[in-house]
Amino acid sequence: MNPKYPQHIPFIYGATPLEKLDRLTKFLHGPEIYIKRDDLTGLAGGGNKTRKLQYLVAEAIAQGCDHLVTMGASQSNHCRQTAAAAARQGLGCSLILRGSEPTHINGNLLLDQLFGAHIYWSEDRAPQKLLDEVTRQLVSMGRKPYVIPYGGSNVVGATAYVQVMHELTEQLEAQNINIDAIVHASSSGGTQAGLVLGAEIYHFRGSIWGISVDRPENELKMQVGALATATATHLGLGTLNVTQRVHINDDYIEPGYGVVTDLEREAIQLVAQKEGILLDPVYTGRAMGALIDLIRWGAFTRQQSILFWHTGGMPALFAYADSLL
Ligand SMILES: *Cc1c(COP(=O)(O)O)cnc(C)c1O
Repeated sequence: MNPKYPQHIPFIYGATPLEKLDRLTKFLHGPEIYIKRDDLTGLAGGGNKTRKLQYLVAEAIAQGCDHLVTMGASQSNHCRQTAAAAARQGLGCSLILRGSEPTHINGNLLLDQLFGAHIYWSEDRAPQKLLDEVTRQLVSMGRKPYVIPYGGSNVVGATAYVQVMHELTEQLEAQNINIDAIVHASSSGGTQAGLVLGAEIYHFRGSIWGISVDRPENELKMQVGALATATATHLGLGTLNVTQRVHINDDYIEPGYGVVTDLEREAIQLVAQKEGILLDPVYTGRAMGALIDLIRWGAFTRQQSILFWHTGGMPALFAYADSLL
């Protein structure tokens, strides 16, 4: 299978590190834990959206667009990385954020503004409607907007996570590591769709578990499966069904999106104190909390090796200061 990758803008400086978390592994008496450091992608605070934006922004420029439009939560990492990418490429950027403006500007929201993005608060309107309105306005002003869907999760964005499986399998081979399972935070599904398709293409033998941060298993599973199939077609691979590779765990969604509980708090403090690595309160804190919980329940043997995929989000820590200690 030979995917035809379109052009991308190299926001990332090279392969992100693959490391073993020795002290966390020892502390948990569990499986060997490795980490893929996609918090260290090169764009303004890092994260998984930077990979997707490499392809999305390249397509925007190829289409002659001069303005990026997208939407997300008020502490959206996706919006912050989109604003940074726009600045870096000399494009305008409009962000539609859910809810109303908070009294304290902090975390990703502060960074959005430093990057010069125009911010629109949805208040009680549907964000999609406001996005359509802003896009129409830009067109009427003579701009050429490029609309990026929620989380950058379409076939163009997911392509980046297909390609990174090539990067990962080369790293695993070079370091002689065998991974039984990848665990990562999953929400709009583009990351997982890319990973499962990449796993099929590059013969990764482990399983891939998306820890849902907000959506029920069936819903997210269907979306990831459909996006992976569509991405295969987009990359010239014909019809390829990888739904059997999509594993979702929704046991940790109950508190709701962006609500920090003991689970996230413990995971964030533990990884910070054992490894000097920062997780985020919304995604990686919850996914690592889930992994720690699963290890304590005996879901993995000590002989197994687990790869935690760090998807970024560190700037949001500052907006959650009050709930993290
Ligand atoms: C967006 C995001 C995710 C989820 O990725 P999806 O592709 O939307 O599923 C996970 N972690 C962080 C830090 C994110 O910003």
